[in-house]
Amino acid sequence: MSRHTLTLDDRLYEYLLAHTLRETAAQIALREETAQHRHGGMQISPEQGQLMSLLVKLLGARRTIEIGVFTGYSSLAVALALPADGRILACDISDEYTRIARRFWESAGVAHKIDLRIGPALATLDAAIAAGEAGAYDFAFIDADKTGYDAYYERCLVLLRSNGLIAIDNVLWGGDVARKSRDADTLALQALNAKLVRDERIDIAMLPIGDGLTLARKR
Ligand code: SAH
Ligand code: CA
Repeated sequence: MSRHTLTLDDRLYEYLLAHTLRETAAQIALREETAQHRHGGMQISPEQGQLMSLLVKLLGARRTIEIGVFTGYSSLAVALALPADGRILACDISDEYTRIARRFWESAGVAHKIDLRIGPALATLDAAIAAGEAGAYDFAFIDADKTGYDAYYERCLVLLRSNGLIAIDNVLWGGDVARKSRDADTLALQALNAKLVRDERIDIAMLPIGDGLTLARKR
């Protein structure tokens, strides 16, 4: 048995990208523009985007949730994987970041699939629950403020159907989750990780892709 996940040096990571990525021209252009952005490091990695596309297709997802849009790379990956009548309920507080996202959703021809709500994600999710949308979603991606994750997770569990999937980003937090910390974001991620591993409402896998991605299937 192999006990450890392989550590990727730059050369092996480049190899992996060269042997898996199938980005569209719009995805490449968005990734290149986001790389120039002062917060460009917040974007998910392209191989993670492709994994999420695959999961969305496997689920046969039609209605999805994204919490934390930024310049739109993750939502673009999901939107491209959705059928023509698929929809993303996309949550972000920033007009400035999502203006870039809208431009690339347009050029990729998927803007009509994305319902962007500017405002605190918790309010958007609670409004969806109040509107009777519990159980109506197939997939959710949580990638906004880390201290909000636990509340987003609980709302997503309500909004997803049984067999739906929640993907939670940054669960390894650059390695900080495995160290003692007093940082609020680190503490929030540590508490959520500790909760999820024994949460009987889900099946779980924590993947060391990107900054760590937890997959939680609603039972
Ligand atoms: N998924 C994106 C990266 C998201 S970065 C990608 O792959 O490119 C985190 C985002 O969360 C930022 O755009 C930030 O504006 C947003 N955010 C922070 N606090 C939020 C809140 N309370 N509600 C909704 N969005 C929030
Ligand atoms: Ca992230």
